[in-house]
Amino acid sequence: MRIVLFGAPGSGKGTQAEMLAERFGLPKISLGDILRDEVRKGSDLGLKVKEIMERGDLVSDDLVEKVVEQNLNSDGFILDGYPRNQKQAETLDSILSRTNSAIDAFICLDVSPDIIINRLSKRRVCRACKVNYHLDSSPPKKDSLCDFCGAKLTQRSDDAPEVIRKRLKVFAEKSKGVFDFYKEKGIFFLVDGNKKIEEVLSEIKSRLEKSLGGLSGKIRGHKNES
Ligand code: AMP
Repeated sequence: MRIVLFGAPGSGKGTQAEMLAERFGLPKISLGDILRDEVRKGSDLGLKVKEIMERGDLVSDDLVEKVVEQNLNSDGFILDGYPRNQKQAETLDSILSRTNSAIDAFICLDVSPDIIINRLSKRRVCRACKVNYHLDSSPPKKDSLCDFCGAKLTQRSDDAPEVIRKRLKVFAEKSKGVFDFYKEKGIFFLVDGNKKIEEVLSEIKSRLEKSLGGLSGKIRGHKNES
């Protein structure tokens, strides 16, 4: 089963991707996490993308295409953060078609702007475990420290208010092309992402169940018939 989770920054796609990946035993591939790791390591790629990410712009299609090719296992995955524009959707299609496979479902989390701003401005992250916290709805047990490893929680530099605005603008400009691409393929699912985490997860699962006709046989190794 190959699933794309799509949504504005703060829509909860990372959280849902993590839970779906665990539930179905599939790898979660998060472009944002991979790129942030490269920045932290100070690799060539990290140095190229650091500033772009800090100002809330998208990294060039060529650079992210290489990252996707290196990390994608066409047997099955939950993909978070790719594609983000129509060109990337076409690229993903062509990468997968080389192994005679394709995306099974494109899930878009629909969240109101007020909720997004609240989630992002109060988000805190553990760099070590990559666990996200929210200062009101899921705060750490000890102030500013990760519940799992005790590391100090930080705020993502791109969660600053002016960068949030920029990221939302970029999202609004680029998403229509991606929607149209997957609507045409008949695998576009809009899910209400304003609800609680467990409710959103259960809606995603029931949409997948209905559309893929039973998830169990689809989890690994499903190939197109062509
Ligand atoms: P995210 O963690 O998904 O919010 O991504 C954080 C940042 O990583 C984005 O604001 C972009 O700068 C960069 N990024 C992640 N995925 C992509 C992508 N598919 N295309 C271009 N840039 C990306």
